[in-house]
Order: sequence, then structure tokens, then C-alpha cells
Amino acid sequence: MITIITATSLSKFLACQRAYYYRHELRLNAIETAEALSFGRAFHAAMESRNKGMTCEQALAEGMIHIAGNEQAAATLSGLVYGYFARYKDDPPIETRSEIQFSHKIGKNGFRAAGVIDGLAQNSAGEFVLLEYKTTSQSVDPSSDYWARLRSNLQVNMYVDACLAHGIEVSKVIYDVTKKPSIRPRQEETLEAYALRLREDCEKRPEFYFARREVTILHDDLHAFRTMRKEACYQIVSLRHRSRRTGRVCSPWLCCGQQQTCNFCEYNSFCLYGAEASTQNIPSGFYLGERNPELKQNSNI
Ligand code: SF4
Repeated sequence: MITIITATSLSKFLACQRAYYYRHELRLNAIETAEALSFGRAFHAAMESRNKGMTCEQALAEGMIHIAGNEQAAATLSGLVYGYFARYKDDPPIETRSEIQFSHKIGKNGFRAAGVIDGLAQNSAGEFVLLEYKTTSQSVDPSSDYWARLRSNLQVNMYVDACLAHGIEVSKVIYDVTKKPSIRPRQEETLEAYALRLREDCEKRPEFYFARREVTILHDDLHAFRTMRKEACYQIVSLRHRSRRTGRVCSPWLCCGQQQTCNFCEYNSFCLYGAEASTQNIPSGFYLGERNPELKQNSNI
């Protein structure tokens, strides 16, 4: 049996074994989560289009494809994309290969690492750099600890490891971070007016919304990441064995019980009340979907 490990699935496993089990073993998808993810995809699509030399309007249209039907998200996307283009109007698009899918063997238990790299570019010195687009609700101020946490970002370590596995020596990561707006449409404000207000706010205080930072890759960080991933794979194999031997299939996959993690967990509507999901018992608002839907891309490394 081949198991695909992505940055998403590994993060999920480290945060909560039960949530990993539901999402990546049982393939239990929340309907709302699919909608929430689409905003990130929409913003990525707009950024990619900018890198291909499209105008702001064209890039926005490319992004809108991913959030068709969600008018408030469309208004937010419009405000942010116009704001982004204004913020970086003097910075030419970075020439990149975008949305590159990778897959390579890890370890001896049938695990493969897989994922999709946002962008791979070469700087003026000819070095390969990863380009990572991120949207966050946290502050992107230079003093924010958001930047410190990025250093041990397992997604980037996974991408660097994938590049090395395919013979591409990556030296740096450029993080291109956009802060999601905290402003919302006011009562009786139209969505067009809200989009314009957000755009103007982005233009008035661009450093509040947009930040870029270049980070050098450290080999010690990469080594620590590989060790951690290998241990996680061993644990997944062991938990599957336990699962097959128990009456309640999900019981070996432990609940983290951490308030902060549970608060944002897509399964908290039933898990926190002691209920369990299975193929015969799918909670309402969920469906059995794909294990790693983010991997549907065309371009391979
Ligand atoms: S609600 Fe909490 S314990 Fe349950 S799956 Fe989610 S994160 Fe894990």
C-alpha cells in the first residue's frame, strides 16, 4: 500500500492524530472547508497570473473562477488583488515555474512525499529560490513572531527536500505574505463599496497587508524535518496495525484535546461531543472525498 504524505497531512498528524485519521485515512471532508480553501486557491491563481504578465483585471478574473457564487469572498479578493498590484507596482513579476507537482519515495514503508510547489524561480545569481505565497490572519509586521515560525515551516522544508530529491539545489525561500482583512462589509454597505473600501485601505497602509521576506535554507532545519517526518510515518504504520485489531477503528488515533487546536478543527461539531465518524456513520455536513484533493495539478517537477 502506498501512502502519500503531503505538508497538509503531516501537519494534521502532528496537530491531532484523530483529525488526521478522519481527514486522510477515512477521507472525511467538511463541505464548508472546501469553500474556505477556495479563497486561498483564488488568491494563488491571481498571483500566478500576475507572474505570467497578466494585468490586474485579468489576474482577478483568473482568481474569481475559484470562488464563483461566493459574492463576499469575491469582493474581498477584488480589494486584495487591486491592493497587491498597487503595492508591488514597481516590482516586476518574478519569472517562475508555477504550481509544480512533485512526488518521491520516502523511507521503506511505502510512503511517498507529494505536493505542489507554488513557484520555483532563479535569482540574478542563478540560484534556485522557492516562491511561497501565503495568506494569513496574523500580523505581517516585521516584529511579528509569524516570521520566526516560518523558519520551521514544514511545508517549505518538504518542498526543499522535494527539489533536492529531483536534483535541484534550492538556496532560499521568498515568502510573499498577504494579511487577510479584518474589515468586513458594514450594515447596508454594498459589496462593491466594501471591495473599494478594502482596496483603498490596502493602498493607504500597504505594509499592514503585504510583506515579502527572503529566508536562507538551513541544512540543520532540513535534517530535523526529515527525521520528524520519518518518525511520523512509523507512527502511522503502527496506528493502522492497532486500528485493525480494535473494535473501534478510530480509537488508536488519539484526540489531542487541545482547546486551541479543537477550536479550529473541522470535526469539532461531533468529536467534542464524544461522537465518532466511520464509513457507515458520516456526520451531516461531511462527505467521503479524496485523500489529498490539493494534488490535482498538471506540471511535474
Ligand atoms: S476536535 Fe480536537 S480532538 Fe477532535 S479531531 Fe478535532 S482537533 Fe482532534
